[in-house]
Amino acid sequence: MSSIVFENLTKYFQSSLALDRLNLEVKSGELITLLGPSGCGKTTTLRMLAGFITPDEGKIIVDDRIISAPKNSLPPEKRNMSMIFQSYAIWPHLTVFENVAFGLRLRKVGKKELSDRVAQALALVHLEKLAHRYPSELSGGQQQRVSLARAVVVEPQILLLDEPLSNLDASLREAMRNEILTLHKRLKLTTVYVTHDRIEALALADRVVVMKAGKIQQVGTPEEIYEHPNTEFVASFIGRCNLLSGKLISRNSVEVNGMLFRVADIAKEIGVGDGVVLCIRPHAVIMNSAHYLMDGETANSLGARVEHCEYLGEFREYTLKLDKSNLSLCAIAPPHIRHQPNSLVDISIPIASCRVLPAEVKSAKSPYVMQKV
Ligand code: ATP
Repeated sequence: MSSIVFENLTKYFQSSLALDRLNLEVKSGELITLLGPSGCGKTTTLRMLAGFITPDEGKIIVDDRIISAPKNSLPPEKRNMSMIFQSYAIWPHLTVFENVAFGLRLRKVGKKELSDRVAQALALVHLEKLAHRYPSELSGGQQQRVSLARAVVVEPQILLLDEPLSNLDASLREAMRNEILTLHKRLKLTTVYVTHDRIEALALADRVVVMKAGKIQQVGTPEEIYEHPNTEFVASFIGRCNLLSGKLISRNSVEVNGMLFRVADIAKEIGVGDGVVLCIRPHAVIMNSAHYLMDGETANSLGARVEHCEYLGEFREYTLKLDKSNLSLCAIAPPHIRHQPNSLVDISIPIASCRVLPAEVKSAKSPYVMQKV
């Protein structure tokens, strides 16, 4: 297990800035997910850690040793890291056993130790019975498990994964995600996992690193990032939310289009009088159900009319128009709770679920922005 420090890491491709002074510390044994939209610099960060790209400025330190710097970079094969790719990248002409054994043969590991270690690695990913097969005789999920076994058999200090589940269908992705998590809990390898899938990032990470345009936007546990995002970008990238433009009237109230919302969770550096965005997740808009509030929990109580309802299997999604305003809110409720369009409902929004964010230029134009991710 190893710790990693990224210090002011910067990379240009021609004149375009792909990574802009990235600073991050990954603790020994931690699983970090790098999450962000296409082109935000996730893969560049990972490839730099693997040694395939040299930084223009800054450095990467692993266990107090500089491994990447503009004029001083350790080659990939000397880094003791294993990388897993979206495309599996396993040898088509080698059996499962030989694919997993490949790295051990390069390291000249003796015959007995080699077969023991390959058997252990295959058992970890439940492939012991398929050791004799070729990749063309395996499903996508099984091929990705071969690449997992091949990555861990060499006992790397650090495991790197670049969107490893993107080529799998939804149910297999979920199963593989659980396998990766189980493997991580067992081996405790320091792991950096690149994804643009927020569910994957939340489900796997000890800490999520949200990136945008070559910069880190926020680092935190999945709960911190989801429940206390620092910006509108992070709030909407990590999950769906109602974003309402308003003004902070006092340390516990926000005015939106003439309506007052009581709040208790305000992002740093926002002062009274500032323009803000109120972030409310759809599941926090509770309809006709005061008893869903926990004892002692206070809420904003409002009246609304149902504009639209969609049945989505696991839940129903409502568009609600708030009384005495032109504000709309998205709410979700269990499928057995039915409200017809045009019916009137009382809604409760727990104060703790009203996150106040600094206003960004885009949101100031519209009083209601519903993000669908
Ligand atoms: P994706 O999720 O689509 O893989 P990403 O977040 O991993 O995106 P990167 O691949 O790190 O993004 O790319 C960051 C920026 O650097 C992008 O604008 C990309 O076009 C640019 N870039 C990456 N590699 C190169 C390269 N070899 N030459 C030129 N530009 C590059």
